[in-house]
Amino acid sequence: MTKIHIFDTTLRDGEQSPGVNLNQLEKLEIAKQLERLGIDRMEAGFPASSKGDFKAVKAIADTIKDTSVTGLARVVKSDIDAAWEALKGAADPAIHVFMATSPIHMTYKLKMTPEQVIDTSVEMVKYARKRFPQVQWSAEDASRSDLNFLVQIIEKVIDAGATVINLPDTVGYATPQEYGQMFKFIQDNVPNLDGVRLSCHCHNDLGMAVANSIAAVENGATQVEGTVNGIGERAGNVALEEVSVALKIRSDFYPYETGLKLKEIKRTSDLVAKLTGMHVQANKAVIGRNAFAHESGIHQDGVLKNAETYEIITPEMVGVQSNTLFLGKHSGRHAFKDRIEELGYQLSDEKLQEAFEMFKQLTDRKREVTDDDLFMILMDIQTDSSAVSKYELEMFQVQYGTNNIPTATVSLTTPNGETVEAASTGQGSVEAVYAALELLVQEDVCLQDYQLQSVGGGKDALAEAYVQLTVNGETVNGRGSAQDVIEASATAYLNAVNRYVVQKQSEKIANTVK
Ligand SMILES: [Zn+2]
Repeated sequence: MTKIHIFDTTLRDGEQSPGVNLNQLEKLEIAKQLERLGIDRMEAGFPASSKGDFKAVKAIADTIKDTSVTGLARVVKSDIDAAWEALKGAADPAIHVFMATSPIHMTYKLKMTPEQVIDTSVEMVKYARKRFPQVQWSAEDASRSDLNFLVQIIEKVIDAGATVINLPDTVGYATPQEYGQMFKFIQDNVPNLDGVRLSCHCHNDLGMAVANSIAAVENGATQVEGTVNGIGERAGNVALEEVSVALKIRSDFYPYETGLKLKEIKRTSDLVAKLTGMHVQANKAVIGRNAFAHESGIHQDGVLKNAETYEIITPEMVGVQSNTLFLGKHSGRHAFKDRIEELGYQLSDEKLQEAFEMFKQLTDRKREVTDDDLFMILMDIQTDSSAVSKYELEMFQVQYGTNNIPTATVSLTTPNGETVEAASTGQGSVEAVYAALELLVQEDVCLQDYQLQSVGGGKDALAEAYVQLTVNGETVNGRGSAQDVIEASATAYLNAVNRYVVQKQSEKIANTVK
């Protein structure tokens, strides 16, 4: 079995999805979960792009020990310097520099000749190698580049010190045959590939990202880049859970293995979906809500007699549990702590106490607390950036029924610390609350999307709301969970507004520092 390295770019390419903006604590939580999943290398961000990204990459590099951490950089010295400053504390630091190699990108975007592209890449790979033990060079838009030009430039950047060569299908245009052939051509024609890893990076514009990645592997790639849940630019990147499970389930056919702990897939997927606000479609391969549901009577009957009749992947393999009962009202602090540790979390005494109080509050309203509920509590605790001033919901009250106009009264504390109150009406109860919030929030807010779902099963399941807003013209996602749908909705709205507010505050701080 050939080992395939898994390179995760959820925090860089994935974070480029419209509306996604993760704060530092959220990025750190995802990074820790990626480490538990057994990812070989994670791309934590693009350190030169903003102060916030720099700090997040640094925090991840300083925390993660079992996974190599990398950052993206353009082929300019200042980007490489910023990446080194952010990554030098990592246990296994790496850099990812890229430069476009297709005629259309070189002519129109870079306005450079092929020779200039070679010279710049070589010079900057050499510069990066002075600091980083691992340098990945990417030929942006490789799948639309001239193959002979690729051979030429790859040979030179390897001589300059590149240890990984990545050939992305940047625009999701390649077919599996073409993409595989490109890897074969490079393998057959680049003379100095010994000890160098070839990497694929596929986008899903034509729905061929998994097929393309596997075609690359069959033709010599030993690194697959992708994201959790396949999030990313446009139609997204290849979904790493799909590639890794496909290789596992069809190991009779594919002689490759990844080092991923497949049992961590569901939890990783849930975490990324919650923090990015990007839902997983119910029929998504491997981790969709319906991936293990058998609806037709004939199928159900078959599965009961022998699961393998209609089930090629077991839910257990990817960590989907059948809502195991966990703790209740009478569970003590000790049992609670044990369970949290089993879930892979280490909390400080103070955070543990906070989590335990939230758990106790939940048991007042909910008879049985499941792992999903616990996970939600942990996530809220670990990603709460309470140090910054933002909007807080003080109280709300809604009156509605079949025969009257829904009316909401909402009171908030603003980032300046004042308490403000307003009342408004709407076609429905959520709309009434949102109309009142709009009066109170000082920014110009417009609701773009709203979704509601339940977490776990049963009538006492938690409600989880997702919103997408434009705040002063910028798109932001928000989420909120509560026992009550209106409270979850109000929390999600303020969560999105606060993301905007917190980001603006940190930009302001960054500018005054400069
Ligand atoms: Zn990409």
